[in-house]
Amino acid sequence: MALSDLRREMVLAAMTEYDTLGRDVFLETHGYGPARGYFVRYDGRRYDSKAIAGVAHRGVDGHPLRAGDFSGGNATVARVLENLGFEVTRPDKFDDGQYVDDLIHQVRTLKTAASATPGERKRHQPLTLLWALGRVSRGEERLAPWSETSFALSALLRRFGHPGDGAHAEFPVLHLHHQGLWDFPGHEDVPRASGSAAQRWMRELQPISGLRSWVHEIVTEQPAVHARIVLCLLEEYFRDVDRDALLAATSLAPEPDVDSPLQEDASPLPKGTSVPGRRSGSTSRVIRDTALAEQVKLAHDHQCQICGTRLVTRRGGYAEGAHIRPLGSPHDGPDEPGNLLCLCPNHHVLLDGGAIKITDDLAVVHVSTGRPIGPLRLVEGHRPEIRHLAYHRHLCEEPPPLGR
Ligand SMILES: [Zn+2]
Repeated sequence: MALSDLRREMVLAAMTEYDTLGRDVFLETHGYGPARGYFVRYDGRRYDSKAIAGVAHRGVDGHPLRAGDFSGGNATVARVLENLGFEVTRPDKFDDGQYVDDLIHQVRTLKTAASATPGERKRHQPLTLLWALGRVSRGEERLAPWSETSFALSALLRRFGHPGDGAHAEFPVLHLHHQGLWDFPGHEDVPRASGSAAQRWMRELQPISGLRSWVHEIVTEQPAVHARIVLCLLEEYFRDVDRDALLAATSLAPEPDVDSPLQEDASPLPKGTSVPGRRSGSTSRVIRDTALAEQVKLAHDHQCQICGTRLVTRRGGYAEGAHIRPLGSPHDGPDEPGNLLCLCPNHHVLLDGGAIKITDDLAVVHVSTGRPIGPLRLVEGHRPEIRHLAYHRHLCEEPPPLGR
């Protein structure tokens, strides 16, 4: 069934009929059940989206479609109606993990073109999404004028794109639009993402644009999903990039920790208690995580991946970013999502100290006894890499270093 032949005026005609007949009669007349979550919103009203699309099809060949003629939902009806400039709501998106997983899958499989750099994919679309996610972090509006969007994207593309891929911002936003992630509100005939006509369309219309409203809503209201999408983008498209620089450039690095409660116990000694050459006896274990580790912790909502504990301080959730293969010489572990775990302080110490190890099938095990502790807790969008786990297990087998 050619839903793709629908035009905006056909949908508006179906809405007029819906308004005239009323919902119940409209649905019964055309053989539709009530929608479960997928509604198209227009002019302050909402309509069962599948029924509207089916009845709108009368404009294509004179025959409305019946409910059994085609499937509704995200990939079909919602996409088609959104491409015609309508807003479509989704079912229970905040409770529906599958829905979020689908979004993450889509981000991971963006239809990117081959780069001028052999063996690489162009980074335009991933950079566009990172930029949009950075706007969310800054609390900015979903939609931005084209002048602002193209200026910001071009700067990012020049800095983080592959050499020779160009820094034009038109094509990635058009590509993302046709993949259902980017919105040009009020525009029905958004051109394909190729050729000078597409660039001219953008230049002449100067459209405001941004993330689709349902995507924007999810990443705004669920910081963990926001972080998981950021991690996914970094893993899939920016493996050999300075990720902290990229996160800082897209405003995805958190504010510096200025008043961490962990640092407060490094308070000056009371006046008059002069203890030469000696400071407070308590040691303060200050963890300075990179921007990337902060994203990993957010993705897990600060829940320990081993015990599930979520510590809460006055500043909110607290966890530590633990590198599986240690950073720095002689181990030279990379600071990348696949080498990071989100752990509580206890399990961070046990992992670093070689008391626990993680098998290739992601089971956590006591090193000394071989006793299993449990499966590593995972979220979609973040997975440890097997090679780093193997390196860590190798370290666990070595004699403990002096001073530990
Ligand atoms: Zn733990």
